[in-house]
Amino acid sequence: MSPTISINDSQRLQLKPLEIPSKLLLGPGPSNAHPTVLQAMNTPPLGHLDPDFLGLMDEIQSLLRYVWQTENPLTIAVSGTGSAAMEATIANAVEPGDVVLIGVAGYFGNRLVDMAGRYGADVRSITKPWGQVFSLDELRKAMETHRPTILALVHAETSTGARQPLEGVSELCREFGTLLLVDTVTSLGGVPIFLDEWGVDLAYSCSQKGLGCPPGASPFTMSPRALEKLQRRNTKVANWYLDMTLLSKYWGSERVYHHTAPINLYYALREALRLVAEEGLANCWQRHQKNVEYFWDRLEDVGLSLHVEREYRLPTLTTVRIPEGVDGKAIARQLLTEHGIEVGGGLGELAGKVWRVGLMGFNSRKENVDRLIEALGQVLPK
Ligand SMILES: *Cc1c(COP(=O)(O)O)cnc(C)c1O
Repeated sequence: MSPTISINDSQRLQLKPLEIPSKLLLGPGPSNAHPTVLQAMNTPPLGHLDPDFLGLMDEIQSLLRYVWQTENPLTIAVSGTGSAAMEATIANAVEPGDVVLIGVAGYFGNRLVDMAGRYGADVRSITKPWGQVFSLDELRKAMETHRPTILALVHAETSTGARQPLEGVSELCREFGTLLLVDTVTSLGGVPIFLDEWGVDLAYSCSQKGLGCPPGASPFTMSPRALEKLQRRNTKVANWYLDMTLLSKYWGSERVYHHTAPINLYYALREALRLVAEEGLANCWQRHQKNVEYFWDRLEDVGLSLHVEREYRLPTLTTVRIPEGVDGKAIARQLLTEHGIEVGGGLGELAGKVWRVGLMGFNSRKENVDRLIEALGQVLPK
């Protein structure tokens, strides 16, 4: 037997060994991975039940508790990108009919609405213009109206560059017997987070933004209160791959096979987290803040303005207003083709109005800011 479908000559021409051009990824993610992380990834895989690999998983769990500032025993990495970890929180926490209140002030709030609806939640949402955040008073009013089982908020709205303050929200949730679910995809590693102090019950993140790692292994955590709700469920978790009643047996002491872990991505995540620990979490947060403030100043020097009020700006993602009469897409394309720098465009309400610039993880460095400002000076009309 020989294959009957062949690769034709024109396709064969493209099958050279892989060569990827080097680019500076200053968009909303992925960000460039740290060289040490890439090196860790380029290490032979172990078996997913090998004691050495299980030890590495334990280290990932401890390191994740550190970067999130939580003691939740169920703190793991989900195999998949941030959206998989997002879906894991919803799939495990929501039972059909549960009232889920979602704060929508950007693209990712809407994604939560979509996901919660798919798992049968009775979804209620509150909205704000993109770039703004919810006040505690606004949240209280909505809680009084909807009395939800779960309140879901996006800590770092990557589509707008706004940071939703979380202080005081858990007291509100306790008052109404509500679980607090928070998207920390663009905040983990770059923005101060205190999950336990803030009383967050469910949180998720990704590897390719603030942690400086390739995408594919995504942090997930669940408080003992959220775990109790999971254990009381009347129905099975509707997603087999992300079911924490099964996954916790692989990550916990039982070590029961569930699915083959993406071994090399876990190496990478472990190394990225180790680098955060080596730098020190507080230093890491400070570095992000210092470099982004330098970036904001330099932007103002060249006459560009920012979309979000200073108090609520994220250190990891900045929305820069596209000046009147400038073709934002053409400028982004020029940055990429002529300068090898990627920046993002606006989504939804902000489409065509802003560029989104990420300074995340390994990329949060002064030299990257200088390189982007210099390139902008060359491509922007005088
Ligand atoms: C990037 C992002 C996600 C989705 O993560 P993926 O890794 O792209 O699947 C979810 N929420 C927010 C706030 C994000 O920025």
